[in-house]
Amino acid sequence: MDLGIAGKRALVCAASKGLGRGCAEALAEAGCALVLNARSEGPLEETAQAIREAHGVEVVTVAADNTTEEGRAALLEAAGEVEILVTNSGGPPPGYWTDWDREDFIKALDGSMLSPIALMQALVPGMMERGWGRVVNITSRSVKAPILPLGLSNSARAGLTGFVAGTSRQVAGQGVTINNLLPGVHDTDRIEQMDARLMSEEGIDRDEARRRRAGGIPAGRYGDPAEFGRMCAFLCSAHAGYIVGQNIVLDGGETNATI
Ligand code: NAP
Repeated sequence: MDLGIAGKRALVCAASKGLGRGCAEALAEAGCALVLNARSEGPLEETAQAIREAHGVEVVTVAADNTTEEGRAALLEAAGEVEILVTNSGGPPPGYWTDWDREDFIKALDGSMLSPIALMQALVPGMMERGWGRVVNITSRSVKAPILPLGLSNSARAGLTGFVAGTSRQVAGQGVTINNLLPGVHDTDRIEQMDARLMSEEGIDRDEARRRRAGGIPAGRYGDPAEFGRMCAFLCSAHAGYIVGQNIVLDGGETNATI
């Protein structure tokens, strides 16, 4: 399918690896020029070069922490006018609900709620003026059903979800859609870290940890960042203009809910 977005410019945050990279690859495959972000320059440049070679699109890189004001300023300066924004960042650390103090919550809110909101506030007005735009926020299935060790994520991402629910309906009339993608268990470094935690808690090896985790997923496997990215590219496509303020769960059926 032609997604109808060839030549559009997309800012993809936290995209040298994992789900962000999956989104960047799929948008590049659809012909978008990219502004790619991550903190570490080396892996970011490697990813950018691989995408240039595979898809022949322009890729600009910005090595910066997108949860800081300075990082976002650098990103926005390099991005200029973009038609597509994919927000993403590293998730908050796991723990127990009594572990966290105010500082921990502020950090989680900065990373998983206030940073994507600041990027939308900076870029969506221009999209509205030009009459077309797409925003996809990578959140988590934890906003549908809590993941018990991820209380910081459960809390901060719920705030972003509430913001998107209202704002998406205020901007849709100007041709801008905002939606959230909710990953379940996808095969990335982040999940390796979660599996390492399970291995040390349960005294099991990596294969057993993966077997147990995949056993709780009706699809029987971990998700692939490439399939996640293709859903992101569809939400950013010319065909997705009537999808507004939705929370789309990509979790192989793990969230046991009727709607
Ligand atoms: P990942 O494989 O560890 O990749 C994270 C990417 O984000 C890397 O490119 C990393 O590069 C970049 N990054 C991290 N913090 C950043 C920051 N402050 N500023 C700019 N770039 C940053 O992680 P992932 O699995 O793709 O997860 C992405 C997001 O989805 C996370 O918020 C995670 O909690 C959420 N999520 C993932 C899953 C899953 O199954 N994988 C499930 C639910 C939710 P640098 O380290 O160089 O910055």
